Amino acid sequence: MLIQFRKLTTSDQPLQFHQTVDVSHAVKGRKDIIAVTPLEVELKATPTVAGSVIVRGHLQGQLEVKCSRCLKPVTEQLNIPFHEVFQPVENPDMVQDEDEDIIYVKGESLDLVPYVEEALVLYLPLAPVCSEDCKGLCPICGKDLNETSCDCNTEVIDPRLAALKDFFK
Ligand SMILES: [Zn+2]
Ligand SMILES: [Zn+2]
Repeated sequence: MLIQFRKLTTSDQPLQFHQTVDVSHAVKGRKDIIAVTPLEVELKATPTVAGSVIVRGHLQGQLEVKCSRCLKPVTEQLNIPFHEVFQPVENPDMVQDEDEDIIYVKGESLDLVPYVEEALVLYLPLAPVCSEDCKGLCPICGKDLNETSCDCNTEVIDPRLAALKDFFK
């Protein structure tokens, strides 16, 4: 998914991307994510008179995560908006009067895949739940409290106080 800056700025047509991107390695190592389908990427790159390129569109796919309370798999439809402005420069570290809405990039061309992956990672839920009132698992016996109940004493003990209790034994 390459943008060639010179080619784009001399063309009078925006550049369209319509492709499928495998993003599975972007979420590798996340234990809460079971699977992510390749993303359907629909993006349009438009050059501006200032020499920058506006890229906008959306990314669609399906994400399977574990409920953070009961660990059951939950499927989420992804529809992630994408909007970035890229500005090609000689040296991205030497930009004066940086505009924080612009991503300064070096070189003749730009690969959008890393930015697509980043948009996905930023969009991922921190603590997904299967339902807002999921009761989760009992921290003592591990039973799914959505399906059953248990007689465990789940009264919360402050771990610092618990340590003191042992100390005085
Ligand atoms: Zn749940
Ligand atoms: Zn229990």
